[in-house]
Amino acid sequence: MSANRVIGVDLGGTKIAAGIVDRTGRIEARRELATPTQSENAVLEAIDGAVESLLDDDVAAIGLGVPSTVDQQTGSAVSSVNIPLTDVPLRDHLATRFGVPCGLDNDANAAAIGEWHAGAGRGTRNMVMLTLGTGVGGGLVLDGRPYRGSVGAAAELGHMVIEHDGRPCQGNCTGRGHLEAYATGLAAANDAREAFGPDADTHVLIDRAHARDERALGILDAIGRRLGSALGTLVNVFNPEAIVIGGGWGEAAGEFLLPAAREVMLREALSPGRELVRVVPAALGPDAGVVGAAFVAFEALDAGRG
Ligand SMILES: [Zn+2]
Repeated sequence: MSANRVIGVDLGGTKIAAGIVDRTGRIEARRELATPTQSENAVLEAIDGAVESLLDDDVAAIGLGVPSTVDQQTGSAVSSVNIPLTDVPLRDHLATRFGVPCGLDNDANAAAIGEWHAGAGRGTRNMVMLTLGTGVGGGLVLDGRPYRGSVGAAAELGHMVIEHDGRPCQGNCTGRGHLEAYATGLAAANDAREAFGPDADTHVLIDRAHARDERALGILDAIGRRLGSALGTLVNVFNPEAIVIGGGWGEAAGEFLLPAAREVMLREALSPGRELVRVVPAALGPDAGVVGAAFVAFEALDAGRG
């Protein structure tokens, strides 16, 4: 069996993307299907189906990224946003079904691992990633390896407080003033509706910013500054070589967010960490999830986890 090809599966709230990926991060075949949300069984069957359609004798391992908190000790998705997965032992399920080593991770961790191996974080030993989408996900690579915390629940960087008693956070989060309350596409769409009327959304906001509309630029600048507060803290805590900004909203708005974010980061972060760090856009785009899940598979394979 070749140890150089694995299947990476990126389970999202609306779609499941899967691919056969090699050790350079190249996707050689891919599948995509809608995520069924009616039941846990339907989700499991869809994941199995995506894997099955790609599987051949040369596939050495399977990795799965999920929009869930993950317990690495049990290999389970503990709780999930938007999909019916609660306390599901996904790693054992896949290993039993397909008989190869399997790895499981939170989707933002997987994206960070993908960018570290094959994208904007390549060559670093210490890297932080933020994925700005409908939520704000985080991933950490520390001292040359992914950092997952005691059971796999670390790197929830979107739930870092940037304003004491600030805006309520999203979803099940009871917190206030978390980065996620300010830096998502959803938050930006709210800001856009307040400024430009009920039909405005993030596309309107970005289009207006490209046309140098002062209000649109002001909204994005304000979001960028909030982001910069978070980046300053991340630099002070982790002293990373790179902070990679990805996610659908992060990539769409990056050119407007990052200059303001860097400016505030330089104010908040201490020397010499602030001079060392590069704040860079993600390089893998929408493939980060599949490529990252594949590297989670390689990690399981190389650790000999069956
Ligand atoms: Zn929160």
